[in-house]
Amino acid sequence: MKPASTRAEGLPRSAIREIMILAAGRPEVIHLEVGEPDAATPLHIIEGAFEAARKGWTRYAPNAGLPSLRKRVAARAKVTEDRIVITTGAVGGLFSALMSVLDPGDEILIPDPGWPNYAAIAHLAGAEVVRFPMPASRGFLPDMADIRRLTTAKTKAILVNTPGNPTGALFPPRLMQELVEHVRANGLYLVSDEVYEDMVFEGEHVSAGSFGAEENMFIVTGASKSFAMTGWRLGWLVCPPQLAGVATALQEPTTSCASTISQKAGEAALDGGEAAVRDLCAKFKRRRDLAVEILRKYIPVVPAGAFYAFVDISHTGQDSLKFCKRLLAEKSVAAVPGITFGPQSDRYIRIAFTINDADLRKGLERIAEQLG
Ligand code: PLP
Repeated sequence: MKPASTRAEGLPRSAIREIMILAAGRPEVIHLEVGEPDAATPLHIIEGAFEAARKGWTRYAPNAGLPSLRKRVAARAKVTEDRIVITTGAVGGLFSALMSVLDPGDEILIPDPGWPNYAAIAHLAGAEVVRFPMPASRGFLPDMADIRRLTTAKTKAILVNTPGNPTGALFPPRLMQELVEHVRANGLYLVSDEVYEDMVFEGEHVSAGSFGAEENMFIVTGASKSFAMTGWRLGWLVCPPQLAGVATALQEPTTSCASTISQKAGEAALDGGEAAVRDLCAKFKRRRDLAVEILRKYIPVVPAGAFYAFVDISHTGQDSLKFCKRLLAEKSVAAVPGITFGPQSDRYIRIAFTINDADLRKGLERIAEQLG
């Protein structure tokens, strides 16, 4: 057999995997590493899926998704329906966006810290990942001077995420506008991951889509976080009009289409109003406040959205993987090593507020003890 030496084989491995393996089979562990809402999917959405399945919505959907769902998503995103592609989770949207524009040898600018799947998808596309820093001293936001400096003739796309995982930072309108102007002026694509758009505690989420430049713009969102639907695998992608056909065609050899039953559940979610979304967001805000109360000294930037905090562990002198291993071994708390999110993020760990308040408090207190 020929030795395999594929890009898939070389996929970067996440340090979170090590923590999860170590935490497995230990029921006493408090899990602050899990990046999904702990709430059940609201009942009206589950009922919508049941009803659709009973009515026969159990077959393939078109590659771009059910027209009835695309219409609802377009209305929510305030764009035309022809730009919408329904995807298998927001991951499917990210994959479709990056694969639509990247070729081997191209460069893509991604954030440090940034969600690890960005680099993994770019790697599969054969593109070079160029990291732009988002230091705590800048509120975990990028500096346009860095973005300009790192943009070369090979740069094809810039990826941003607001509200951000792992920091909860929210891009202010002016920064977003400058980014949009930059991609427009340089003929680049902006891939804006806005999957946490509804999880905002202070300030306002400003979509990259609010500044025009639709030919340069992919916006990735979906049902996972807003409606507590991670397992339904339902995302939606707003494409540049000229690339919607490419992103649609990409669905065929990857997933063919997002699950039809999940798409009908998505319609029930979007028809059901925003009350469930607001309740979820209020819960995360309360827990965010608890995290900031207990770990104030170590959270350099109060998260304005999503459901994470990036905690500075640098005074311990340990790297983030070592710290997380010790935290697990000594305090039975699982957290994510910052190194997972980029080479410049090794002085942090990420915690998620996705467990009940009592366990969260216990977990936070144990981290505070570990931090001294
Ligand atoms: N983007 C970010 C920043 C995320 O944190 C996640 C999931 O954790 C996703 C995208 C993927 O969402 P989905 O579960 O809809 O694929």
